Amino acid sequence: MTELTKLTLAAALDGLQRKAFSSTEITQAFIDQVEASNETLNAYVVKTPEKALDMAAEADRKIAAGEGGRLEGAPIGVKDLYCTKGVRTTACSNILGEFTPTYESTVTQQLWDAGAVMLGKLNMDEFAMGSSNETSRFGPPANPWRREGSNQTLTPGGSSGGSATAVAADLCLGATASDTGGSIRQPASFTGTVGIKPTYGRASRYGMVAFASSLDQAGPIAKTVEDSAILLEAMCGHDKKDSTSLPEPVPEWRDAVHRGVQGMKIGIPKEYRVDDMPEEIEALWSQGIEWLKEQGAEIVDVSLPHTKYALPAYYIVAPAEASSNLARYDGMRYGTRVAGDNLINTYEGTRSEGFGNEVQRRLMIGTYVLSSGYYDAYYLRAQKVRKKILNDFVTVFGECDALLTPTCPSAAFAYGEKADPVQMYLNDIFTVTANLAGLPGISVPAALDKQGLPLGLQVIGKALDETSCFRVGGALEEAAGFVAKPEKWW
Ligand code: GLN
Repeated sequence: MTELTKLTLAAALDGLQRKAFSSTEITQAFIDQVEASNETLNAYVVKTPEKALDMAAEADRKIAAGEGGRLEGAPIGVKDLYCTKGVRTTACSNILGEFTPTYESTVTQQLWDAGAVMLGKLNMDEFAMGSSNETSRFGPPANPWRREGSNQTLTPGGSSGGSATAVAADLCLGATASDTGGSIRQPASFTGTVGIKPTYGRASRYGMVAFASSLDQAGPIAKTVEDSAILLEAMCGHDKKDSTSLPEPVPEWRDAVHRGVQGMKIGIPKEYRVDDMPEEIEALWSQGIEWLKEQGAEIVDVSLPHTKYALPAYYIVAPAEASSNLARYDGMRYGTRVAGDNLINTYEGTRSEGFGNEVQRRLMIGTYVLSSGYYDAYYLRAQKVRKKILNDFVTVFGECDALLTPTCPSAAFAYGEKADPVQMYLNDIFTVTANLAGLPGISVPAALDKQGLPLGLQVIGKALDETSCFRVGGALEEAAGFVAKPEKWW
């Protein structure tokens, strides 16, 4: 039955509709794979096999009656950032203890309404802060990919590392993820999978544990561009419960994937050519340009002059919003409480034991940049920079339809290799810009590097123009013909 787990989501949905196999069969196949691999790969932090089989039985009943939704019977994994009713949700933080929500996030509800089956909750960096999953309370997952000839464990990236691991290792047909500064796209790039962050406001944030509310966006990690379109269509849509959710209809993105790029103008931003970028990534980027040219796109050189300020601005805005959002974890309402002899001690004990080091670092930075006397110098200035970054994009999108860049300045790295937080933050250099400007961005696997590790290319689109991301992403996928899978060692 393991072959079923290797199917793409599109192929599995087709097989389910044709009754080539049942949802119960494919769900059981995934449960077995998760069971056999989780000790090694640590992708799932909560497994819900009974719930999955119940949902699968219901899906089979619906398919038999000809009533299924568009994801009917498809087993997926959920990042531990999404509240799932009756299933422990901790954003992989100790401070949430055994918190079990009494309500469902809008995004996951929409997936269940479409017929998807929940296999469990996926590992991530604590509160989605990180690029490697080293900050998870449950210990990090292992990237199924390794350097050729080495058995060193590599990170699948972060913060959606569990989602990327699960998709790359065939432990679900697709997964939910979230992206505040690159957490969908960077793990996708590190694991040979596809990840898309839609325009800010496309997907509801209701029931997603908040990190930085003006940047957080839901999206999928999937095996192919088409699969990512199928999932994104089900995840997006207006939601009254999120005031930042956009009242926009959801296009048929799946149709855009094979439309080609004939006549499109693709911008190449010169500022994404950074010092110390491995030559192979530079070469892959050039290859990507060639692929798009061959398929009839016009390539234009463009400039986004404020790019160099994006990372510093992000690492002020995101911690500032986090310090405000995470103020609610005080040991009074949910999760862990370390009782002291007075209220202040209780707060202090709870927060210093409940939060890990990286989260504490961000809360301190965030509190500092928002404090009176420093607010203008840091937070306000970062907001002004953010506006300039957005304006750069608005200007270049007068000249082109989408931008092509590398997703990351490196392939997957090993645990402990980036012990200095700033080194870790630098990995987000190509991804944070889309969050600051609220734009959609997709990462598509395009090649293996000399060490045999996947590398991704990123396409950034205009606001609400995910369609162009899917067209260009689909064209890159086809040209790259990336079919490599990690050699199974787990
Ligand atoms: N790596 C970035 C950070 O640590 C982005 C995280 C994210 O997108 N959730 O903030």
